[in-house]
Amino acid sequence: MAVKKPKDDRMEKLVSLCKRRGYIFPSSEIYGGLTSCWDYGPLGSELKRNLKSVWWDTMTHRRDDIEGLDAAILMHPQVWHTSGHVAEFNDPMVDCKKCKARFRADQLEQCRCPEKPSKNPIECDGELTEVKQFNLMFKTFMGPVEDTANIIYMRPETAQGIYVNFLNVKNSSRQKIPFGIAQIGKAFRNEITPGNFTFRTREFEQMEMQFFVHPDEDEQWFEYWREQRWAFYSSLGVNMDKLRWHEHGPDELAHYAKAAYDIEYEYPFGWQELEGVHNRTDFDLSRHMEATGKNLKYQDDRYKEKFIPYIIETSAGCDRTILTLLVDAYDEVEIKGEKRVFLRLSPKVAPIKAAVFPLVKKDGMPEFAEKVYQELSKSFKVFYDLSGAVGKRYARMDEAGCPFCITVDGQTLEDETMTVRDRDTMEQKRMKVAEIVDFLAEKTR
Ligand code: ATP
Repeated sequence: MAVKKPKDDRMEKLVSLCKRRGYIFPSSEIYGGLTSCWDYGPLGSELKRNLKSVWWDTMTHRRDDIEGLDAAILMHPQVWHTSGHVAEFNDPMVDCKKCKARFRADQLEQCRCPEKPSKNPIECDGELTEVKQFNLMFKTFMGPVEDTANIIYMRPETAQGIYVNFLNVKNSSRQKIPFGIAQIGKAFRNEITPGNFTFRTREFEQMEMQFFVHPDEDEQWFEYWREQRWAFYSSLGVNMDKLRWHEHGPDELAHYAKAAYDIEYEYPFGWQELEGVHNRTDFDLSRHMEATGKNLKYQDDRYKEKFIPYIIETSAGCDRTILTLLVDAYDEVEIKGEKRVFLRLSPKVAPIKAAVFPLVKKDGMPEFAEKVYQELSKSFKVFYDLSGAVGKRYARMDEAGCPFCITVDGQTLEDETMTVRDRDTMEQKRMKVAEIVDFLAEKTR
């Protein structure tokens, strides 16, 4: 008899945990929600801030060859004609004549139709239309007149804001090639089939860096950035066995790219792209130079001839990285016959770094714990909890992704030491408050 594979319900469990603990909520939920839009709750918004700050630190503060930028979402519409997005930023789409749903023609295996029981469009007997090209850019109008002359696009990538500011950044920062420009910001794509929780949404944030190099040095910088970006995920504590490289074959390469590799993660719904590292050649700057007549060529005393820099791009999805961290951190353990959930986020990105508990609500323990909480709050996001049995409090914090719990007990009142419990090893060590400050600084650095 064939053994039925157990249903993989990890995503359902994660979505439910995210709602329960305040990581991610459906957008406009009291109105029934809005497809593919999500709101980050109290813990989710902290996690996102921490991730962005680690990325920003790694890409800008810790290096002297990358500058930051925060460009407007709305850009001159001509930018998107020049970049090729108006003509070519399309996904192939098919409609099902039976259920009227639309699917991405190149991802039919991953699509489900809206009918119940939901089927994959390949398995279903509904006839599919011819493939049509669908442009992914959101359009709106600038100003009070809604006519074609006033069409403006919501940027589908942050990269173009960097290219059009290449001269401004170079001149104001006095950077010399090779150097990069980094930006974190929202991007919008009218995806045909969004889904898998926050994996593919229509509004999302990107963390992109464009590195400008001499055309003869593009390949060595491409390799360098592949290594750097791989190491980034290791520094976030991601299980590296769940990551792999995918090289774009000739049929996948974007029209502007000379080489492209994706870092893929093995999600419960399969291997999918997390970040792309692309060699975009001089395509973007050449196009903008042609369209504007502005000279974007580069020269300094080290190079005899002027040249249009090549660009090595590292493009990561912020929301997709958050999803990766959450999926990767989700763990279930059976303890004394009870199934317990642990969210094993790295202390670097965990929203709450430590929780402080008095063991019992008497003998001056709450007062002492309150003082410890106040002291730690000066440097870290910490949480104070005195309600319920201490075991229950530990369990709540484990599920919320908090890496350390500090308990004030009888001994504290004698020698001022408290237990510091590590969520992942369950080890407990006694420390005084000053030692805890150093300990947390070390762990969260
Ligand atoms: P995909 O093949 O998944 O559509 P892409 O190749 O179009 O992605 P890029 O244009 O290279 O993606 O964008 C860079 C990064 O931005 C992606 O690696 C991903 O992390 C993120 N990203 C792109 N589209 C979305 C989306 N619709 N929702 C969430 N994140 C996205």
